[in-house]
Amino acid sequence: MHIPLNHPRRTSLLIREKLVEGFRRKLVVEEGLIAHGRGECFDYLIGEKTQPFAEKAIEAAAAALLLAKYPVISVNGNTAALVPSEVVELARITNAKIEVNLFYRTREREEAIAKWLREHGASEVLGAGDDASATIPELFSERRRVSPRGILIADVVLVPLEDGDRTEALRKMGKTVIAIDLNPLSRTARAASITIVDNVVRAIPYMIEKTKEMKTKPREALEKILREYDNNAVLQEAIKHILRRLEELSTSKLTLELTDISK
Ligand code: ATP
Repeated sequence: MHIPLNHPRRTSLLIREKLVEGFRRKLVVEEGLIAHGRGECFDYLIGEKTQPFAEKAIEAAAAALLLAKYPVISVNGNTAALVPSEVVELARITNAKIEVNLFYRTREREEAIAKWLREHGASEVLGAGDDASATIPELFSERRRVSPRGILIADVVLVPLEDGDRTEALRKMGKTVIAIDLNPLSRTARAASITIVDNVVRAIPYMIEKTKEMKTKPREALEKILREYDNNAVLQEAIKHILRRLEELSTSKLTLELTDISK
């Protein structure tokens, strides 16, 4: 679909187009499109920009990834459709494994996503087909399957767009979980060790920039950033930010001034 250059919602519509394209390529499922809608709503509320609370979380996430012994980036259909090259780049900088991890798991989709990521430069993609032979305790059905060379043995897992149940299970397995979720109230956001309340399309490029910049920092400096990080405070800041914005909007003029072109 052609989206005019001057359309006021152009960026948001372009993101939608990427997801629809991902749906056509069988990377994204119908439920993924609905999940994106929930995300868009929260993006509207935070102002569609990376806010200071997300910057703080991104800095801590970069420190955690750089300090990790065995970092893994978990990729679902929406993430693959929205930021495939960026995921590959972040994995390269942080020496992380990439693993396909789906809520609605089918072999066809796992393999389509792995192929898509390889086409975007990934040399290895775990979790597709027979590779997902290990299980996460406490979870049932296909959702518990993970790679024994990936998430199962990871110490730090980045889960853009994960569900709450799985985030909790990974935490209970002693892993540091970094979530990217626009909804600061979701179970994922509240269960993760570090929650980046931002859109994946902005957060992952920002993480690339930050990890590049922080790679040369001494270990002690990275450890200090992690030690001082408080995820509860970051989630509270996200909610306060939304409250402040709504408060300001509630006392400002909301109706648009439109020029009459009918005469
Ligand atoms: P939970 O189980 O964590 O409570 P949920 O049921 O609210 O999650 P899901 O349907 O599992 O949500 O996934 C949708 C989540 O992903 C929403 O919280 C939404 O805000 C978030 N989301 C969707 N698209 C994006 C995006 N592009 N960037 C960041 N977050 C997103």
